[in-house]
Amino acid sequence: MIDKILVANRGEIAVRIIRACKELDIETVAIYSTVDKDALFTQIADEAYCIGPPPSSKSYLNIPAVITVATITDCDAIHPGYGFLAENAKFAEVCEQCGLKFIGPRPELLRLMGDKVASRRAMKKAGTPIVPGSKSVVQHLKGAKRIAQVIGYPVIIKASAGGGGKGMKVVYDEEELEVAFLMARSEAELSFSSPDVYLEKFLENPKHIEVQVVADEFGNVIHLGERECSIQRSHQKIVEEAPSPVIDETTRRKMGRTAVQAAKSIGYTNVGTIEFLYSEGDFYFMEMNTRLQVEHPVTESVTGFDIVKAQIQIASGEKMTVKQKDIQTYGHSIECRLNAESPERNFMPSPGYIRKLVIPGGPGVRFDGGIYQGFSIPPTYDSLIGKLIVHDFDRIEAIQRMRRALDEMIVEGVDTNISLHKKIMNNPVFVAGNYDTGFLNKEIL
Ligand code: ADP
Repeated sequence: MIDKILVANRGEIAVRIIRACKELDIETVAIYSTVDKDALFTQIADEAYCIGPPPSSKSYLNIPAVITVATITDCDAIHPGYGFLAENAKFAEVCEQCGLKFIGPRPELLRLMGDKVASRRAMKKAGTPIVPGSKSVVQHLKGAKRIAQVIGYPVIIKASAGGGGKGMKVVYDEEELEVAFLMARSEAELSFSSPDVYLEKFLENPKHIEVQVVADEFGNVIHLGERECSIQRSHQKIVEEAPSPVIDETTRRKMGRTAVQAAKSIGYTNVGTIEFLYSEGDFYFMEMNTRLQVEHPVTESVTGFDIVKAQIQIASGEKMTVKQKDIQTYGHSIECRLNAESPERNFMPSPGYIRKLVIPGGPGVRFDGGIYQGFSIPPTYDSLIGKLIVHDFDRIEAIQRMRRALDEMIVEGVDTNISLHKKIMNNPVFVAGNYDTGFLNKEIL
């Protein structure tokens, strides 16, 4: 039984988790850095404690401080949200050692999936199609050249410990390889404290489609269908929808089955996402995210399944009663990630005081946010301030609903990417539904 949870995160996702806890009648403890003192999540939690100054390394990533608060306040469990400590195997281990349930998969699964080379190997073994590429870490330029010749250019160099779209290098011919390889290694070292990189075939304009899986601690695994996440800027998602507008029922079922089988093959528990690249009718495993995703609400909208509550119930040791056949999807859902940034100034972050805020409502509109009128967005963290999510009978109606919600939304005092979202929602290629990861560069920017 879990009676009290420490939420080791901030912003909109901390708010989302606290909301789920309240509905489950679970007490909540928030932790915050000095600049987040007045943030929404600190106000709605039952208790809130300052754990350090603004730099994440001294607050949200400060494992001893997080564990100390959880222990002193008598928490049973820690929900890490996404980012920060969510995929940190060491943190999950420390939680276990301190008698705190880490709400997520076991540490060894975090470790396996956090190592992209090892995860590709594990998935291949499980019979999951993977993007052609290197079987292990590539240490030397000579090896990189050989692999690139075998898989054919263009190739993409990725950090084995990577994430967040960082440090990837696309290489179109052998001449570019040396510089890109050295740069990728040094960027990997800088961002992820490991220079290990690997190579993959770079698929031209693929689609990013991912499948949400849910697994209890008794070996029951289901999937909640797919999310289409191909609207990206610099490899980071900004609009997601469920279901994908392009895949047919046969592919959908195949993807779902593949994701469940992949999760089962590694003994996965709690919720996770299997990310695929989809190109010309085929799909390939790219990575597994061993945590709650930013875009989970579109899946919740079309299935009616509360993913955050499920995480907590599974971590409490409850057996999943829902079976695959019980999962039905209804209608269409779209999410726009709202960032405090200036599309006119190369998407420069725009922190500051929110003078006026109007959040849209009405049928089929959900806002998951961490802000309010009079709140000052600190400059220290990610620029995501909230997510606008709509749900309607079909995709065209959902797009129309999103246009209406974006028109209603007012944020004054800081710049936001609302104008960019309006352009996307009105773009004929987006409306037609057949877009790929190159969409934003080709159509909007
Ligand atoms: P991260 O973990 O850093 O988010 P991912 O491996 O999930 O990185 O990739 C992020 C995005 O980069 C993908 O959604 C896709 O747009 C692009 N990408 C990654 N690998 C490839 C590839 N092999 N070919 C084409 N695009 C790719």
